[in-house]
Amino acid sequence: MSNEELKDLWKKILLKIQPQVNHSHFITWFKNTTVLNLEDDGVLTIGTPTTYATDMIMRKYKVEIFRAAKEVNSKVSKVQTSFEPSLDFGKKSDAVDINHLNSISPGNIEKRARAKDKAMNPTLNPRYTFENFIVGEENRLGFAVAKAITVNPGKTYNPLFIYGGVGLGKTHLLQAAGNEITKKYPKKKVVYKTSENFTNELVEAIQERRVKKFRENYRAIDVLIIDDIQFLANKVRTQVEFFHTFNTLYDSNKQIVLSSDRPPREISDLEDRLRSRFEMGMMADIQAPAFETKVAILRVKAQEQGLLVGQDILEYIAHNCGENIRELEGVLTQIIAEIEHTNKAPSIESVTKILNRATSADLKVNDQNAPRFKAVDHEDIINFTAEYFNISPNELFGTVRKKEVVVPRQICMFLIRKELDYPLERIGEIFGGRNHTTVMHAVNKVAKDINSDKLILKSVNLIKKELRI
Ligand code: ADP
Ligand code: MG
Repeated sequence: MSNEELKDLWKKILLKIQPQVNHSHFITWFKNTTVLNLEDDGVLTIGTPTTYATDMIMRKYKVEIFRAAKEVNSKVSKVQTSFEPSLDFGKKSDAVDINHLNSISPGNIEKRARAKDKAMNPTLNPRYTFENFIVGEENRLGFAVAKAITVNPGKTYNPLFIYGGVGLGKTHLLQAAGNEITKKYPKKKVVYKTSENFTNELVEAIQERRVKKFRENYRAIDVLIIDDIQFLANKVRTQVEFFHTFNTLYDSNKQIVLSSDRPPREISDLEDRLRSRFEMGMMADIQAPAFETKVAILRVKAQEQGLLVGQDILEYIAHNCGENIRELEGVLTQIIAEIEHTNKAPSIESVTKILNRATSADLKVNDQNAPRFKAVDHEDIINFTAEYFNISPNELFGTVRKKEVVVPRQICMFLIRKELDYPLERIGEIFGGRNHTTVMHAVNKVAKDINSDKLILKSVNLIKKELRI
């Protein structure tokens, strides 16, 4: 394949990954990347600009990349990353420009398919449909009500509130409803957002003094779908804004669909008036899938890939895998990769290996929206700040005095001091034995800068939000 073809291949893969990944993470991890090679045996090598990204992309997005790559080019049997220093800072034009993913080089794609994609609702992922949702006892109610609202949006169940644990299909149902309504009523304005999207947009609107426009935009929607509403907990300003949006839409019979990992009454720090709004329509819970449902899901997903996996193997996976359907899918994806790689039917033995790997941190729920219950410690702050700025934690501890490292280092110290109240001396020790006056200087500087430097303020806020501190 030529360089151009490899680049286009990567663009197509990125276009599929993009809707599944939080936008700022997407930019952080995939900027200045490209596909370096697709070998005859199906090994796809992704070039990354830093060694840190080389690890993180595989740790965080292996499953998504593999699945998307396979859809774009069925030959792909394995995905790997490779550090390619020339991609750093986009010096070389070989990297894909992730801000212009739609600009595929001429002559390389089926243009008609693309035009069709474009006409679809950009906030929805067409992968989620009612047809490919497998119904079991545990999700029957959720499925039925999500489907019901597509017949006559705003008239049947309003609001619709679907709740249940991570990876049980809430996002799938919400998006399927959105896709179905878009198909049936092309004129209706259907908008899907996570509550984090909603919050971020509001924060930006406030900073840029366009709250009025923000309101107008939201109030012109016919079907508003907000995923993971539990993240509005604690966010007082956002709750007030959402309350008014909710009322305006509700009063004009516009459909509202919400999801949460728990019922409204269990969302703490939620205003009572919002809680009672959430409860006044239809509430449906999704329970963890029973063994039979898991087997059925595995069977259908294997068939979708054109794969025949024995009943014993499917049952073995269902028995040994947790309740999270995303993890079930992850295991299956790995099994498929293995089959295609070795050209052998999976055995209990090979599946056991994959399951062992899957239950270790590697494949564990990589869901940016998953609730973080654990208390934050300084390592969390360090790791997140490093991740946010796309540098390695070691650089934060080191002595490099480049601005790209100094600012994140200072922000990190600031957050540890303000949020965890660590003594200056201790922070100095954490950061490679620095003097406490150096730490004090850093903390004071950030405290001052957040009042005048929008970028610093935004970084601090986003990191805090990610850490829920
Ligand atoms: P949640 O939003 O509840 O965390 P998701 O909707 O993201 O969960 O589901 C996780 C993954 O499992 C998605 O890829 C989704 O398509 C798949 N999935 C969940 N439930 C089902 C189901 N009943 N049938 C088919 N796929 C499912
Ligand atoms: Mg979800």
